[in-house]
Amino acid sequence: MSGTLGAGRLATVDLPNAAPFAIRARLLSPLADGSTLHEPDGLVVIDDTGRLAFVGPASDAEAAGVSRQVLADALDLLPWVVMPGLVDLHAHLPQLPNAGLGAGLDLLTWLDRYIFPLERAFDAATAERVAPLAWRAFAAAGTTTAMVYGAVYEASLDATFRAAESHGIRAIVGKVMMDRITYDPTIDPGAILDQSLDESARLIERWHGADAGRLQYAVTPRFAVSCSAEMLRESASLAAATGAYWQTHVSEDRGEIAEVARLFPEARDYVDVYDRAGGLGARTVLAHGVHLSDRELARLVESGTRVAHCPVSNLFLASGVMPLGRYLEAGLGVGLGSDVAGGPDLSLFSVMRVGFYAQHARQVAGVDRGDGGPVLTPLEWLRLGSLDGARVLGLDDVIGSLEVGKEADMIAIDPAFVAPLQGQAPDDDPADLASRLIFRSHPDMVRAAWVRGRRLDGPGARG
Ligand SMILES: [Zn+2]
Repeated sequence: MSGTLGAGRLATVDLPNAAPFAIRARLLSPLADGSTLHEPDGLVVIDDTGRLAFVGPASDAEAAGVSRQVLADALDLLPWVVMPGLVDLHAHLPQLPNAGLGAGLDLLTWLDRYIFPLERAFDAATAERVAPLAWRAFAAAGTTTAMVYGAVYEASLDATFRAAESHGIRAIVGKVMMDRITYDPTIDPGAILDQSLDESARLIERWHGADAGRLQYAVTPRFAVSCSAEMLRESASLAAATGAYWQTHVSEDRGEIAEVARLFPEARDYVDVYDRAGGLGARTVLAHGVHLSDRELARLVESGTRVAHCPVSNLFLASGVMPLGRYLEAGLGVGLGSDVAGGPDLSLFSVMRVGFYAQHARQVAGVDRGDGGPVLTPLEWLRLGSLDGARVLGLDDVIGSLEVGKEADMIAIDPAFVAPLQGQAPDDDPADLASRLIFRSHPDMVRAAWVRGRRLDGPGARG
């Protein structure tokens, strides 16, 4: 061990790269029973399978059976904070290089100018160059599980998965499917559906469940505007037959909703388009859902379909402000998404901050007419970005919180980065700490990230 902890930007320390290991730190985590774990002087012990063998006060460890040797070898990271790694339910990996560009443009101009050129150029060679950097950027932001859209080309998806395989991040990835609008000039329009299904099926075979489930596949029709009813239906049955996820966008923007109504006149509403395709259910993650009707909301809840809430993107592209509290009260399963590059920032801490502001804006602007539901607290936002995100993916028994038996997907944060004044002591209260991490989040505050106890490249690379 070298350097001095708690010194903020200059702190360096030899962090454990692989399980087994033990860390002494301040612990903050949502728990499955709805409460919050907060241990000012805590210990996490990761066993040789990469699972959490002990989580609790350091003073209780010996009585709980942690050996003196493990205790003596534990790396002391105090006053750093160890938390569960964050779960990003929605991002477009090929778009990352243009994150933060195009503010103020309307959606179609933004797509044409900044997004489609990147996706069109995302061939295997580009993926080999960009994907390793992208996975590192996710980890640097504190994200240890990412559910992303790729581009349309099969070989670029293989390269993206290979990069995730060697980086160590937990990733769910899918090849974008489109048969109504496409940017792949090499493909015969009459053959798009079959080719896209075949490519997706081969990718599922190669990657779905790889590395004991760390890598998974999501069948990914882009959205109803760019997919025929047949493509939506066939893609949903491919997902159902293989156990892969199914991801697409829903009800993001008023213009988009009107276009879907024009293209699918037989459907009752936007959600019904996916319902008729057989796309709803517990393995489905729909991005956005900003403008859902009461009927659509009830149908998503009833079918167990989950939503990735992307408040930064929704404001960057002027799509709207989701009535989050009302959806949660209705029982909808919700987690968070960065939606890069619709959202300029991969950090889910930024997503939480903007999401909080957006809920307040809804209230003060009077747009929710009192039906927006309660505004979440900072600790509730942290839960949304970790354990609730894991629950959306059906992985809440595996990851999402610091609880014994779970896989050690976790991050370490130096709270000196979020202190208003140099040398200011970290907050004692866990709600205050959560508030600082969200409202004063810093791009370098995440100093380490692990998946199954294996340390990820990315955090600390700039600081
Ligand atoms: Zn998106």
